[in-house]
Amino acid sequence: MRKIYYHKDSKRGLKRTYERLVEEVNELGEALTKNKKTSAEEFADVLAWLASLANITKVNLEDAALKKYNYKCPKCGKLKCECTFEN
Ligand SMILES: [Zn+2]
Repeated sequence: MRKIYYHKDSKRGLKRTYERLVEEVNELGEALTKNKKTSAEEFADVLAWLASLANITKVNLEDAALKKYNYKCPKCGKLKCECTFEN
């Protein structure tokens, strides 16, 4: 995503990129609730905009995800979460 879109993402800026992410999350929600067959594409769009937002804020998304969720629940530490609360 950085190679494809960073030059555009950095010009668009944080606020407008965040707004695009929210729009895509809403579209994913609509696709899921209406059982559209295109929901896989909506997941890809959400991931792409999340990656764009991470890039312009200098967050390495892969490192962040692995640091927090490295094959275990960050709360209980188990591979298969055993937390009793809903999350
Ligand atoms: Zn857990």
